[in-house]
Amino acid sequence: MKKISRRHFLKLCTASAAAVGLSQMWIPAVGEAFRKAAGGNPPILWIQGSACNGCSTSLVNTVHPNMRELLTEIINMSFHPGFSSKAGSLLTDQLMETSRRNEGNFILVVEGAIPRAYQGMFNIVGEDSSGKKVTLISLLSDLCKRAKTVIAVGSCASFGGISAAEPNDAECVGLEKLADVNKVVNIPGCPPHPDWIVGTLAQLLLYGNPELDDYGRPKLFYEGLIHNNCPRRQYFDNSIFAEQPGEDGCLLQIGCKGPLTHGDCPTRLWNGASSWCVGANAPCIGCTDPSFPDLTMPFYKRMSEIEGPGITSTADAIGMGLGVATALGLAAHLTGNYLTGRIGRKKRDREGDI
Ligand code: SF4
Ligand code: SF4
Repeated sequence: MKKISRRHFLKLCTASAAAVGLSQMWIPAVGEAFRKAAGGNPPILWIQGSACNGCSTSLVNTVHPNMRELLTEIINMSFHPGFSSKAGSLLTDQLMETSRRNEGNFILVVEGAIPRAYQGMFNIVGEDSSGKKVTLISLLSDLCKRAKTVIAVGSCASFGGISAAEPNDAECVGLEKLADVNKVVNIPGCPPHPDWIVGTLAQLLLYGNPELDDYGRPKLFYEGLIHNNCPRRQYFDNSIFAEQPGEDGCLLQIGCKGPLTHGDCPTRLWNGASSWCVGANAPCIGCTDPSFPDLTMPFYKRMSEIEGPGITSTADAIGMGLGVATALGLAAHLTGNYLTGRIGRKKRDREGDI
């Protein structure tokens, strides 16, 4: 069987082209390429921190390939807390032993934020052979150094997410604060789409590191703005705004953060390509953005900051004082916020990075 080219693979993964997500990926040629690679695939160690298990649950909902195919034919999941019967020192021993045996060759997947307060005592993952408690933060400092690639799955692991929302007494942070930032691939989302997780793993296993944007997200899935591919965009351009959820019209006035948020939700769709947030009459709450959730709340209220520079031809047509936030203007807006620490870094982080 001819090996599928990287170019073809990328094309299949691009939802805007395929419109049905990775279901197109599970064509025989790709499946065969996966299976061939599977024999020598590096082990995956999946660790959970301060999380709700939603990212793992999202992964279980993968359709093409389904979870059975994923686990038995594609990836080599050596450890996942949900599939392990071990606890205490048996768990940490297994993790350390596997990481030592595969030093420089395993993929570390982290789900959930990392609590830093009280030397990380809010998140104890087990104990060592002497009975001393092992915190997540200390475990990760070892595992990240040994891993070939580190993947942060979900907004909590990527940027802190819900776990780091104010007041954040546990001082949760995203993985980028712990590991060598260059090694971390962020797959944000609350939760991330299963295709984003499976597709990123596929890219890594078959062709190497994916191309990342400024926030460490694979461009393959996060390059476009939600707003630019939204089927309600015509409403926006014609100044037709819903005033209540469930009404026709653009959802900007009732809180949609689509103009600030990157992802391919409008074209990939969720739940087996059946719908997505705006399709279900709910505004995008910006769940893939580093600013989520502190700066994208209240979720059902329009952000006044979405009054970016009005430089599109539709600016005059809006006529409601909203202005038009173009992708360019919003990118500058977000970059400015990030550089000034308003996005991605909470106040405590700026006081002393770890
Ligand atoms: S603001 Fe939201 S609902 Fe309106 S066009 Fe943009 S993404 Fe769609
Ligand atoms: S539409 Fe927005 S809130 Fe919904 S999953 Fe996509 S990025 Fe997250």
